[in-house]
Parts: sequence; structure tokens; C-alpha cells
Amino acid sequence: MKKIVMKFGGTSVATGKNIRHVAKLIANNRSEDCVVVAVVSALEGITNQLIQAAEEAKKGNREYIRDFKQEILEKHLTTAKEAIEDKQLEDETEQVLKARAGELEQVLTGIVFVGELTPKSRDNVLSFGERLSAPIVSGALKDLGLSSQHLTGGEAGIVTDSNFGEAGLLMNFTKYQVKKKIEPLLKKGTIPVITGFIAATQNGETTTLGRGGSDYTATIVGAALAADEVWIWTDVDGLMTSDPKIVPSAKTIHELSFQEATELTIFGAKAMHPRALEPARKEGIPVRIRNVFNPENPGTLIAKEQKIKPKDGVKAVTLVKNVAVITVSGAGMVGAPGTAAKVFEVLGRENINILMISQSVSEANISLVIQRNLLERAVNTLEIALLGRDFIREIMSEDDVCVVAVLGAGMKGMPGVASRIFSAVARKGINVRMIAQGSSELNVSFVVKENDGEETIRAIHKEFMLSKN
Ligand code: ADP
Ligand code: ASP
Ligand code: MG
Repeated sequence: MKKIVMKFGGTSVATGKNIRHVAKLIANNRSEDCVVVAVVSALEGITNQLIQAAEEAKKGNREYIRDFKQEILEKHLTTAKEAIEDKQLEDETEQVLKARAGELEQVLTGIVFVGELTPKSRDNVLSFGERLSAPIVSGALKDLGLSSQHLTGGEAGIVTDSNFGEAGLLMNFTKYQVKKKIEPLLKKGTIPVITGFIAATQNGETTTLGRGGSDYTATIVGAALAADEVWIWTDVDGLMTSDPKIVPSAKTIHELSFQEATELTIFGAKAMHPRALEPARKEGIPVRIRNVFNPENPGTLIAKEQKIKPKDGVKAVTLVKNVAVITVSGAGMVGAPGTAAKVFEVLGRENINILMISQSVSEANISLVIQRNLLERAVNTLEIALLGRDFIREIMSEDDVCVVAVLGAGMKGMPGVASRIFSAVARKGINVRMIAQGSSELNVSFVVKENDGEETIRAIHKEFMLSKN
């Protein structure tokens, strides 16, 4: 029996019509010898709206919360009505949606009362996006005469630590639990519809895996169930040579190794969770990225290195937004061993992930790129830990920047790639503020001002003629 995990992103389930289409895709791909497990995102834009509602609740804005609850409920009820024809099934779904929207209002009201938004309560609020979409998708499947059940990530057995906001997966435990909960459903011929992005601690507290986490959920479930393939359905034809919204001539890359694809996703392609490919790579499960609106297109296949011969040269150029640069400097750092280690240790303890590092040859400064929303915490932590020391003079930060990453296997063996990249950028009069070459040497990445990001991407895409491949 073949087993496929299919994940549907925000745009794929944005409207009732899209959800019907998704249900049909699932129905068409399942057969007597192929079972499907679905993983779904929140409806497009909902997670961002929930973030805002959580912030308003923290400010004590009760009126906003009341209106918001009504709006979000109506949006999902309309979607359900459009997605499900059978009256009784629609009523059943409506009951679930009303109960969940009521619970959301209670959580937000709780935040209003305490006037505090902890990472834990924020995760609780964010979980409602997927908790409201999964029942509709499941209802649409039943409407087609199929057996289906919706489950939260926690109910499906995905267990994490309690690092709320970016929770760490406990894979062994998860494997055991997911198998125990999902396999009996598959045996009965029921299609599980699992909420992406959200999971739970061992005590059952709701956690989230970090933005874009539904892709990660899909590969976690795929690995736990030893699936044959994981299909990530989205709104573009696959992983492309650049973001087609910025570079309209971008082309789909048909095949990639896990190593290349991981590099691509870490550097922002398809807004995928940076860990999303890890579970599939470990278990050697091929991942396909396909367009829900163009299912005839085979999309991108990501598979083991042996299956795919990496072609040399530049394959893609991506833009990482929402980042910031911190520069730690002081002449005394020259020859003071352990400064870099100290910086990494301090940030690591705070769970702040460093995306890029560069140190100047004189060693008088170290620059780091981190997520922009962690900037304040990172700078405070570094100041407390480092400024007392006589060899650190200054900690500076810039938050109007972005990272441009040029990716592809075999770049290291190709002299002149870096010079072509930076000449192309220089011809546009764009200033490069920091450069790093990843240790894997699959990429060259650098920092420019945020306003220059899109033009930089287009210049490099053109220089390497990526739309011609
Ligand atoms: P989903 O909701 O399906 O998870 P996302 O919005 O998270 O979809 O990711 C898909 C989007 O990623 C595309 O619509 C595209 O604009 C963007 N994107 C950025 N870089 C790339 C790339 N290199 N290849 C494909 N898509 C990209
Ligand atoms: N809904 C979540 C987000 O917007 C997870 C996802 O879509 O992958 O980040
Ligand atoms: Mg996504």
C-alpha cells in the first residue's frame, strides 16, 4: 500500500471553492492501493490577523477582540458554506467552527485581563488559524462521500519541547505517537486532516513550530509514518530560480538534492520553514512541490543525492526579508580568543538563531544576521554580557536590510562566480554591506539595504541567465 502525505498551503485553502478543489485532488490521488494523509495551513492571511489580534488583546483593546471574533467566524462560516454542499455536514462543521471561535475569544479575553502576552499564550492564539481550517477541509472530503477526520497536530501525536513560538520537535516520541494515532485511521479508510504548524508539549500545551511550519508538519508526519512521498501543494509550479513575484521570468527547477533544496529554503525560497526538509531527508523520503492550480505540472522533485546529479553552477537567487544585522566591534578584539564563541554562546542560550556570520580580516568586528523580530532581545542580551568587557567597544544594529543568497551546487569549483555576482550588483550602483560564504559552499550570501533587495535579485537572475535553463 502506497502512502502519501499531502500538505496544502494558505492560498490552496483560501476560499471554499479552493477547498473543494483540494478535496477533489485528494480524492483523485487516493485509490485502493494508495492512502493519503492531508496536512493543512490556515486560510491565507489568517495567521497574520491572529498575530495582530493577540497584540491588540495585550493592549487591552476589548472592542477589537469582539469584532475580530465575529469577523473571523463569519469568514470561516462563509468558506465552509462554499466548500460543503450537504446541509447536515455543513451544520456539523458550523458547530465546530462556532465552538472554536468562542474558545479563541476566551483566550484573547484572558490576555486582555492579564495585560500580558506570553509566548505560550501567543502560540495558543496562533493555533486557531489551522484549528479553523482543518474542519472545513475534512467536511469537504466527507461531502465527496469519503470518510475523514480532522485532528490538531497535538491530537495527531506531534510532540515538542516547550520553546513556544519555535518549538523543538521530539522526534522519537512523535514517531511512536503519530503511528499509534494515524495508522488505525488509515486502516479504516479514513483520511486524516491534520492541522499544520501546531503541536503540543508532553503536557498537552499547544505549541507552534515557527512561521511556515505546515511544510515541516507534513515531513514530520511523512517520516513518522514512513510515507512513500510527501507532496507540498502550493500556489507556484515548484521551487523556482527566484521568487516569481519579484522575477516574473523565474523558472521551475525540476530536480534538486536535499542539500540544495535545504539551502534554498533556509535562504527564503517558498517561505518554507528552514527545518521543513529535515525529517524527509533523514528518512530518504522524496518530497515533491506542486502547484495546486496547475496539477498537470510535475513540479519540483527533491530526493537523495544519488538519484540526482547536481549540475554545476548557479541555480537560484533568493531574498530573505525581515532580518537585521548586529555588529560587535572593538579594536581589542584582535587576538582576543573566544570573543566569537562568547557571542554565539550568549545568543544560543537565548534561542536566537544566527543566519549569517562574517568577521573582518582585521578581526576588529564580527557581524551577524538574525531574524528582525529578535533584534531587541539579541542586542540587550549582548550588551549585558559583553559591554562590561574592555575589548568590546560597541554593539551596533541595522534593521532596514535584507539578505540576498545565490545558490547552487558546484559553485565552489567555479572561479569567477563571486566576481560576476558582485559586478552585476555594482553596475546597479547597489552597495553591499556584508558578505558571507556558507560553509557548505553551496551559496554566496550578502546583505544589502532592504530597498535594494528586489533590484539586486533581478540583476543576478539576469546575469546568470536563470530564465534560460
Ligand atoms: P504556501 O501558502 O503554499 O505555504 P507560501 O506563500 O508559504 O505558500 O510559499 C509560496 C510562495 O513562495 C510563492 O507564491 C512565491 O511567491 C514564494 N517564493 C519565494 N521564493 C520562491 C522560489 N525560489 N520558488 C518558488 N516560490 C518562491
Ligand atoms: N499558518 C502558518 C503561517 O502562516 C503556517 C503555515 O502556513 O505554514 O506561518
Ligand atoms: Mg507557507
